[in-house]
Amino acid sequence: MRPIALITVMLALAAGDAARGQAPGSPRQAVEAAAEALGGRSRIQSLRTLTIVGYGQIGQQNGGGNIDPHPYAPQKWTNVGGSTRTIDLQNGRMRLVQTATQDFVFAYERNMRGIRSDVRLDGDIAWNIGANGAPQRVGDAASRARRLDMLNNPIALVRAALDPAATLSNLRTDRASGAQAIDVTTAKGDQLTIGFDTRTRLPAWVSWVQPDTNLGEVTLRTYYTAYQAENGVQVPFGYTSVIDWRNTVTWRFYVDRVLVDAPTDDLTAPAAVRVPAPPPAAPTIQVENVAKGIWYLRGQGNSTAFEFSDHIVLYEVYASEANARAIIEKARTLVPGKPVTRAIVSHHHFDHSGGLRAAVAEGLEIITHRGNVEIFREMAGRPAKTFPDALGRSPRPIRLLPVDETLVLKDAVMEVQIYRTLNNSHMANAVIAYAPGAKTVSQGDLVDENWDLVYWGNSYPETVNFWKLDVERDLAVHGRINTYRDAIGHLRRQAANAKAFCEKAAAANFSVPGCPVTNADF
Ligand SMILES: [Zn+2]
Repeated sequence: MRPIALITVMLALAAGDAARGQAPGSPRQAVEAAAEALGGRSRIQSLRTLTIVGYGQIGQQNGGGNIDPHPYAPQKWTNVGGSTRTIDLQNGRMRLVQTATQDFVFAYERNMRGIRSDVRLDGDIAWNIGANGAPQRVGDAASRARRLDMLNNPIALVRAALDPAATLSNLRTDRASGAQAIDVTTAKGDQLTIGFDTRTRLPAWVSWVQPDTNLGEVTLRTYYTAYQAENGVQVPFGYTSVIDWRNTVTWRFYVDRVLVDAPTDDLTAPAAVRVPAPPPAAPTIQVENVAKGIWYLRGQGNSTAFEFSDHIVLYEVYASEANARAIIEKARTLVPGKPVTRAIVSHHHFDHSGGLRAAVAEGLEIITHRGNVEIFREMAGRPAKTFPDALGRSPRPIRLLPVDETLVLKDAVMEVQIYRTLNNSHMANAVIAYAPGAKTVSQGDLVDENWDLVYWGNSYPETVNFWKLDVERDLAVHGRINTYRDAIGHLRRQAANAKAFCEKAAAANFSVPGCPVTNADF
């Protein structure tokens, strides 16, 4: 510890502040003490760049992508390797280059091998470098997220708090962590809370609120651990981010090396990305009439609409509020006067339940497997006050109709039979919708013709055979309408690809999740 930091701590002890768990004086003094502990205010403020190299894991879908929604279902992780984060502290610029590799089986060889990304920020301009090397501007939501991600580092954070244009307030003890917490509104207007370690005075964590499609909004908190000295400043060698939903760990990062003021590339936004990204276009929904009273609605993920005597039932409200609302609005136009009253949700995964909150806000009753009831209640019950979505603006309770093994929806004009899927290693609590009149199955994640690998191809034919269904056509959430025969053909091809991928990995003496494939014969 630097002498001046030690003196600060000793003074605090002498005053009895530490004993009472109070930071000395004011929020400003807590920040000043942190700057001293990090290496001294002038040293911190004269730094030009930080380069943080390491590896880590990202929690797939914030914990919403596991085999089932049980809080102790094993978390699926995406590994990030070769991660290099460069922060230009003087100019408010950042670049993060890393390779993301799934540590669980999913459907594309490229995801299993690893996808390199290069994301950048210069002030308010966020852009990506594509695989072709071309810069591409991204929207304001990404800009805010990256700005906060740039502050997700103790030195960048304390510098932002030292900015005279920042507002500091509400010094208090955070009971859960024992840290001294303050609220900060940065010069850019971002609101953060910082926790300081009462012994070392170093930043112990930072937190902020962010919008979330599935969870309304979440408070994310990153803990800094394993501080060590590098070039005269204290830097953490461990980062863990947790959200306030089931304490899900969303990011773990293991630092290999921190370079202080090392030369970096120029991270100035190029002219090509200085034009603002156009606002995202409203989703367009294409309608295909499949049979009498059955429509396939093609959006960002496809839904099926079933017409009953006096109402319409949807299968799937995928991806997002925008997509789900577009699907619901389109379904309302199919038969004038017939309201859309229910949505069947195939399974809980956060892409497939991305429209859940929107559907609840629209007053739809949700039909799903009983195993998803609890998580759907949690999702629909969360507030969204800082970043209100449709449900945040007009909260209403979720109405649920659970399915155990089967549920039949039937009236004079339509019959839809809902069945639980079998023996599926991707999702345990999934349901399909079978229309016996048209011999169609609507399904999510049993097959997608665009996958190149499948590890659960057995599940679709086993489900159809077990329930003795006579299927002619497959109405996929992902892909398009296929004959059932073609759908099974896609699964056989993808399962063979998975087997071949595993054989390549084995020949290279390389361990890959899901290998060897044991269910390719169906
Ligand atoms: Zn899924």
